[in-house]
Amino acid sequence: MRIVLLGAPGSGKGTQTDAITERYGIPTVATGDLLRAEVAANTELGQQAKPYMDAGDLVPFDIVLGMIENGLKKLAEANSNGFMMDGFPRDLAQAEALDQLLDKINQPLDLVLFFEVDYEEIVGRLLGRGRADDNEETIRNRLRVYEEKTAPLIEYYTRKGLLRKVKGTGTIDAIGERIRAVLDEIA
Ligand code: ADP
Repeated sequence: MRIVLLGAPGSGKGTQTDAITERYGIPTVATGDLLRAEVAANTELGQQAKPYMDAGDLVPFDIVLGMIENGLKKLAEANSNGFMMDGFPRDLAQAEALDQLLDKINQPLDLVLFFEVDYEEIVGRLLGRGRADDNEETIRNRLRVYEEKTAPLIEYYTRKGLLRKVKGTGTIDAIGERIRAVLDEIA
């Protein structure tokens, strides 16, 4: 099963990944986590990425692409039963690059799960979370970047017939139940 989790920052994608991995046996490639690990280890990549992350801007694509290629390579080596992507793709260029990468290995996406959560709920969640990049100014910028660059992917994947919407409010369990209802169809 090859899926992409799509949704605004704070829409709850990361919260659901463990349960999805456990049930369907597919590992997560989460670009935000990969980037934070590079920053924590103070690698050259991390040093390059940090200012963009601190500002809530997208890290330039050439920095992110290598990480994704690496992640997919590792999954192929591990013979994993597919994957779930969290935080990637984040704009049209990334979506097209992902399509090309997956076409090349003959493993197209099965579906894109879009987490629907309204704006006010999201701001409240992000302010409550307290990660280093969760201050008010950065949050505002990340939401702006999401609206401008990532939200157009809803249309992109709808046109490809891949988009499935899941209401992202309610308890974690209730959201997980809605996700299972969608994924069980293709599992
Ligand atoms: P959130 O979903 O709350 O925004 P993430 O962990 O997905 O958190 O992302 C945190 C930051 O990492 C982003 O604001 C951005 O700077 C960077 N980032 C993550 N994924 C990507 C990506 N695919 N392309 C560019 N930058 C990214």
